[in-house]
Amino acid sequence: MASVSVWTRLKPALPPLQGLLRTYSVSSSNEGNHYDLVVVGGGIVGLATAREVATRYPNMKIAVAEKENDVALHQSGHNSGVLHTGIYYTSGSLKARLCVRGIKMAYEYCDKKRIPYRKCGKLIVAVENEEVPRLQSLYDRGRENGVADLRLLDSTQLRDIEPHCRGKVAIHSPSTGIVDWGRVTRAYGEDFKEMGGHVYTNFKCPYHQKLPQTTHKLKESQNF
Ligand SMILES: Cc1cc2nc3c(=O)[nH]c(=O)nc-3n(C[C@H](O)[C@H](O)[C@H](O)COP(=O)(O)OP(=O)(O)OC[C@H]3O[C@@H](n4cnc5c(N)ncnc54)[C@H](O)[C@@H]3O)c2cc1C
Repeated sequence: MASVSVWTRLKPALPPLQGLLRTYSVSSSNEGNHYDLVVVGGGIVGLATAREVATRYPNMKIAVAEKENDVALHQSGHNSGVLHTGIYYTSGSLKARLCVRGIKMAYEYCDKKRIPYRKCGKLIVAVENEEVPRLQSLYDRGRENGVADLRLLDSTQLRDIEPHCRGKVAIHSPSTGIVDWGRVTRAYGEDFKEMGGHVYTNFKCPYHQKLPQTTHKLKESQNF
């Protein structure tokens, strides 16, 4: 098994990412490779983080340690595969802003990497009269979040799009799509390796020691 350890000079090196990352001491022996940063977990979050740090800091030596024999074997490879547009998140929140920006970046990335996706769109339907006000608020929230192509449909317009669906009113989100997020995760891993990063599989980080002085709560105002 490879051995990985972290140099705790991460904090001064990564001011824009403070709060997202914690420094970890991870080692199974005193020998082996040494890294400036080891990301624990080869899911989409771990590999996207490693890839982004490698892009911003090309001189850093970075590894990802994954306990399974491949990446994306957990949630990232077993989710509903939806490319969300950002309708549901609280207006103005970081999640809403990142989702609206992120879906554009995700489609661009898939185009660049020739990862197949379908922009099949989504319908959110109020089937009872009492659900209509809630649907209207959801529509207003989506618009406030910057999901520009949302439309409110009456029952006839709804049937034009989905003949098998009956409802009072519906929100149509044409930009919602589906993709194999496991494939996107693996593509992030390939990018990361091309930039000189190392991915260790079958490497379960046995313990971690959280250093109190390196944890920061992410502020909504931080600019990404
Ligand atoms: C039912 C469901 C449906 C979803 N649908 C969608 C959707 O349609 N669209 C969408 O955008 N999001 C969806 N999500 C959310 C999305 O799947 C997750 O936000 C995302 O996959 C989380 O990625 P992750 O890297 O944090 O986790 P994971 O993919 O679970 O990765 C964590 C990795 O860490 C590894 N690991 C854990 N402990 C250790 C250790 N000690 N040492 C080494 N490795 C370790 C694990 O083996 C794993 O590979 C869904 C989630 C669920 C539960």
